[in-house]
Amino acid sequence: MRNSDPSDKAALRVAFERAFAFRASLPTRPVTPPATSDDLACLFGGATPERGELASSVIEALADAADSGLMGSAGARFFGWVIGGSHPVGVAADWLTSAWGQNAGLYAASPAAATAEMVSANWLLDMLRLPQECSVGFVSGATMANFTCLAAARNAMLNRNGWDVEAFGLQGAPRMRILIGNDAHASVFAALRYLGFGAQSAERVPTDSEGRMIAAALEKKLSEGVQAPAIVIAQAGQINTGAFDLIDDIAALCNRYGVWLHVDAAFGLWARLCPEFDDLTCGLDRADSWAVDGHKWLQIPYDCGFAIVRDAEAHRRAMSIRASYLPAHDYEPGDFVPELSRRARGFATWAMLRALGRNGVAEMVRRHCQFARDLALRLTSEPGIRVVNDVVLNQVIVRFGEDDALTHATIAALLNEGVCFAAGAEWRGAWVMRVSIISAALDDADISRLAAAIIRAWRRVRPLVSPLSHQGVSI
Ligand SMILES: *Cc1c(COP(=O)(O)O)cnc(C)c1O
Repeated sequence: MRNSDPSDKAALRVAFERAFAFRASLPTRPVTPPATSDDLACLFGGATPERGELASSVIEALADAADSGLMGSAGARFFGWVIGGSHPVGVAADWLTSAWGQNAGLYAASPAAATAEMVSANWLLDMLRLPQECSVGFVSGATMANFTCLAAARNAMLNRNGWDVEAFGLQGAPRMRILIGNDAHASVFAALRYLGFGAQSAERVPTDSEGRMIAAALEKKLSEGVQAPAIVIAQAGQINTGAFDLIDDIAALCNRYGVWLHVDAAFGLWARLCPEFDDLTCGLDRADSWAVDGHKWLQIPYDCGFAIVRDAEAHRRAMSIRASYLPAHDYEPGDFVPELSRRARGFATWAMLRALGRNGVAEMVRRHCQFARDLALRLTSEPGIRVVNDVVLNQVIVRFGEDDALTHATIAALLNEGVCFAAGAEWRGAWVMRVSIISAALDDADISRLAAAIIRAWRRVRPLVSPLSHQGVSI
């Protein structure tokens, strides 16, 4: 009876209508959610539900409750953190994924989900110019991709030293060294914690002004430190500057010292599709594992990431779950991820790779990087605004005036106006505005609007703080 309840269909219709209305409102609604946390607690609040309600009214109520707390991150006025645009094709594929209710945990539970992952994995490796023998785990994002890849690294490096970490854990295992750039992403340290290495025990390798690991410093550590199984964690796309470690040099060192090279390339790996970035991405294919996001540059809706490992056997040993009631197929997508039951992310991945194609992804990456350079140029033409990083990719970090207070105030003025969104961060001891250009929804006009909004925010702040330095500036 439940399955033929007409209100189920009505709930799906309401979801469709409300989703459509939301997307249509993105160009005009405030990009920052207007609701306070109290407002939202009130909108979502109420007594614990006792009796069920009509499906369509629940969905109406959900859409009403959420609306004023939704960030405009799927639109063209959002430049915060590094958040992709949830492309309509990915969203549509994701709707089907939910409607189909497939469990991608094992081949037998959804042959279509497993096959979509298998085929998408091959396309990804081809587009990213990585070895076809790599295994790919479809995970929730780069955090879990880093975790998964480092679990495979731990397995392989200890295995080579006669230790089965999956059976016996780390207690009594040979000591391992973890070497990581000083400006690595916070989530990598989380992954190290989950794996029993601890965040503090990693040896930090000094970085340059853009956050790139200094290869000579790594070499010194490798040659002078204790001889032990080791993992080097490099980065392609620093979260603030977009900078790439000199992967080719680092890969040569790792090769020489018999060390596993993992690269956190959450968004940077997509630059592999553009030959003009070969100087940045050169040598990436020499690594042993790579973490990359699907929900950033590939525009797949949240959540989606890929754990790519050259040694598929180590990947499988670290992750597979076996039991008599879980029949194993030749290709078991669950062998490469930490979870058993999980969302079938291969459908949205397959759909986005087809919707954009190799050329479409490359053009988007190219366009976004050009936008970043354009933005940097426009901003630096305004007195008092300084672009702090070398804009090599899609990230622009900006400083306003001389002290942190001015940058804080400019970010606040930008958010207060509500036209465009960008947030802040500390970089090299000073506060900066971070602008990330990564949404497929963007065009030239959006970048002009962003530049104007940032300059407007700065012009509002400047006279308040230093009344003598702004003479002649119209606000
Ligand atoms: C975004 C990002 C991560 C974390 O990825 P999630 O998808 O948020 O889990 C890790 N490393 C880098 C360089 C990133 O940009």
